Amino acid sequence: MPFPLRPVTLSARAMEVRVLLVLSFLSPFIVRETLSRNNVHKYCVIGAGPGGLQIGYFLDRAGRDYIIFEKNTTAGSFFTHYPRHRTLISINKRHTGSKNREFSFRHDWNSLISDDPTLFLKHYTDEYFPVADVYVRYLQDYAEQLQLKIQYETEIKEVDKGPDEEGADSCFHLKDQNGVVYRCDILIVSTGLWVPHVPDIQGIEHAQGYESMSLDRRDYEGKRVLIIGRGNAGFETGNHIVGNAAYIHMTARSRIKLAYQTHYVGDVRAINNQMIDTYQLKSLDGQFELFTGAGTAYIAKDSKGNLFLSPMDKSFLDDVETSIFSFKYDTILRCTGFMVTTCILLTCWFKSNKPVSSRREGGPGDEANMYTHILRRVSVPYRAQSFGFAFPLCLV
Ligand SMILES: Cc1cc2nc3c(=O)[nH]c(=O)nc-3n(C[C@H](O)[C@H](O)[C@H](O)COP(=O)(O)OP(=O)(O)OC[C@H]3O[C@@H](n4cnc5c(N)ncnc54)[C@H](O)[C@@H]3O)c2cc1C
Repeated sequence: MPFPLRPVTLSARAMEVRVLLVLSFLSPFIVRETLSRNNVHKYCVIGAGPGGLQIGYFLDRAGRDYIIFEKNTTAGSFFTHYPRHRTLISINKRHTGSKNREFSFRHDWNSLISDDPTLFLKHYTDEYFPVADVYVRYLQDYAEQLQLKIQYETEIKEVDKGPDEEGADSCFHLKDQNGVVYRCDILIVSTGLWVPHVPDIQGIEHAQGYESMSLDRRDYEGKRVLIIGRGNAGFETGNHIVGNAAYIHMTARSRIKLAYQTHYVGDVRAINNQMIDTYQLKSLDGQFELFTGAGTAYIAKDSKGNLFLSPMDKSFLDDVETSIFSFKYDTILRCTGFMVTTCILLTCWFKSNKPVSSRREGGPGDEANMYTHILRRVSVPYRAQSFGFAFPLCLV
């Protein structure tokens, strides 16, 4: 509702229109006033994870005017918390039997591209599956040694299309948590996966999320545990507590996808699939498919605090399925993945009033003056719903 609902006299209405006209005429100047010279760049990158750092490196070496905004106090902060059990699933392939640097680099899943020969993860650890903290140290060194221009503790809260020097609506205006405005011609969004995906299951609030669940094994001693989610996070969690829990059941809406079968790095890796062994060797642990969509089953809690799954409709169940619903659990853990969040871009998208085209290889979108570009950090994953590696989004 652009104008108030109160009765408006002609003169008050005319006054309002006049004020709006003056404001719209002044807006390019108002924006320019709040923008210091330091806050105007050709390129803005949001996020100093591996994706943002890699883009930053290329912009830097090409002599471009750029800035990277990072909401936390360090580069690579994702890896200070994730994976929760602190072992990377990206391999540290230190030797390939080849002297060809390109060939060897292609088999290194963690190091970023640079002209500094010390900046390879193999110089930081011998572990084939490195500890995540080592990767954080590597990414911090990468940012510092290459002197990338990163502005820490700056969380971009809003992105909008706004006027440039001439008043044309062709620039991106970014606003941080303190209301400071930055302007750029090209925006690269490399904000990663931060928002947990919470499935639409009634009673899911009884489950603890992967993002905040306890890592203290003693909390699972003798407990009956259900893990919802059978990706790497679910299996990594099962591995961590298998020596403590009475039994662990794992469920998801689909079959387990094993990386060595699918050839996709984001599917369940062999290092994580110990729970399949314990299931196949009849060690009380269980695997089942259940959540085929909202409305199939729900999570309930009885008066003694036991958690259990209950079917929405018992009539379709066979004996095996009925037995699944007879188990009680002390703890349910939700390991159902993360979502890309682009909500900071919403204002921008609504303003353009057009869908943003998403392409694997980049290139101008047909529908809008924006395009997405997926950076090949190591490889281009083929799955749309889950990316194994970094993928900045570039808007121009
Ligand atoms: C549970 C889990 C485990 C994983 N394990 C591995 C692994 O072992 N090895 C591996 O290679 N990959 C792993 N990945 C994938 C990993 O997320 C990516 O490889 C990598 O982190 C992606 O890099 P990125 O730069 O795109 O995003 P991120 O590393 O997430 O970096 C994004 C950065 O943007 C910042 N940011 C976000 N929003 C804003 C904002 N509004 N303003 C300013 N800054 C902002 C964040 O603070 C963060 O530093 C895992 C993913 C998950 C979910």
